Amino acid sequence: MENIESPENRIKIKNERLQVPNEPVIPLIKGDGIGPDVVKAAITVLDSSVKQAYNGGRKIFWKEYLAGDSSKKAHGKWLPEETINAIEYYKIALKGPLTTPVGEGYRSLNVTLRQRLDLYACVRPVEYIPGVPSRLMNPEELNVVIFRENTEDVYAGIEYDACTSKANKVIAFLRDEMGEKIRIDSSIGIKPISEFATKRITRAAINYAIKHNRKSVTIVHKGNIMKYTEGGFRKWGYEVAENEFRDCIVTESEIKERTNSIDGNLENKLVIKDRIADNMMQQIILRTREYDVLVLPNLTGDYISDLAAALVGGLGIAPGANINYETGKALFEPTHGTAPKYANQDIANPTSAILSGVMLLDYIGWNEASSLVKKGVTECIKENFVTNDFARQMPGVNPVKTSEFAKKIVSKIET
Ligand code: NAP
Repeated sequence: MENIESPENRIKIKNERLQVPNEPVIPLIKGDGIGPDVVKAAITVLDSSVKQAYNGGRKIFWKEYLAGDSSKKAHGKWLPEETINAIEYYKIALKGPLTTPVGEGYRSLNVTLRQRLDLYACVRPVEYIPGVPSRLMNPEELNVVIFRENTEDVYAGIEYDACTSKANKVIAFLRDEMGEKIRIDSSIGIKPISEFATKRITRAAINYAIKHNRKSVTIVHKGNIMKYTEGGFRKWGYEVAENEFRDCIVTESEIKERTNSIDGNLENKLVIKDRIADNMMQQIILRTREYDVLVLPNLTGDYISDLAAALVGGLGIAPGANINYETGKALFEPTHGTAPKYANQDIANPTSAILSGVMLLDYIGWNEASSLVKKGVTECIKENFVTNDFARQMPGVNPVKTSEFAKKIVSKIET
């Protein structure tokens, strides 16, 4: 493989545990649009926190790889194999948002990366930071971790444009062999949801909930309408919970049967419950406190991620990671996209990228550094030192630039 070196600085996996050298190489993809601005801010803050936490005894070597617009301009390729190979090799990477190319063989570079690396768990913690303007009356009640399945559902990429020979063939097959009626001018998409992938993401969500002392895992689905795909997601989710975690969990219906009340968790065990997706959209706003870890199929997971982020300040503050817990590979990235109208102006909110970096530090076990970053971010926001997306909702507050926000966090880390 080209351009890949420093084996001693490589993060490795042994006996399902990460082995992290003091000076790991971590691939960095700056991304498109606001990506370079927010990633630069994140690196400034993360480097400072690591230096401060370990007195210079640890350091991350960020190694830049290309993807997206910059790669297309430099090499004519949207997503070079070298970039994918680097994440395979170094295991963990940080990335900014990437433009979705239109009509160039990729449905989405992000989806391609997640699928090629089998990063099946999209993990998105959503928590309120005091001082952030919110539309909720009690935003501090929202503290959820979203586990979105990343490899299946309508994101699988099996889709045929209307009136093409492939769409016509599928329509004819469904009509002639299965007796289904579909309009001849329909586009067709396929929605696979497997037992394997559902159990894998639910297992990851429950393991996370147990490890972090969370109270409940809610399986979100639309099984009332899509009985075998979304209904399968619900059924297989409960199967994992009941067959693999029996001693640690209790289902909501078991609590109800035993106590005639769904409000109490008498056994102090992890509660497994399920909600229909449309109901979940209102529940998270109206009964915020009752939700903790959520596990969802790909598309609903995408929708709920932005909804939940909006409740605590918006996409500028929503971090994320794409993880394969078995191989240890992980790609950390903000939930937001490239926000092209703010590109290269040094005004986007870098908190989502910075907090994605916090997730990365926690993932490699550098918690002392991650705590410093969290403290710095919290203090800046408390002092109304915020970028435009927040300042415009806070009367009398002047926005600061992306780079100024990062510098201020560094000053907090260093004091
Ligand atoms: P977006 O880039 O996330 O931006 C939507 C809106 O969210 C922005 O116009 C802005 O709202 C707000 N926003 C997002 N990030 C912000 C930040 N850091 N600071 C302040 N405000 C922020 O979504 P999009 O416009 O739908 O998508 C643009 C491109 O990004 C598309 O090509 C899409 O495919 C791609 N995308 C990539 C990823 C990824 O790489 N993981 C994820 C999503 C989308 P206001 O206009 O209200 O200020």
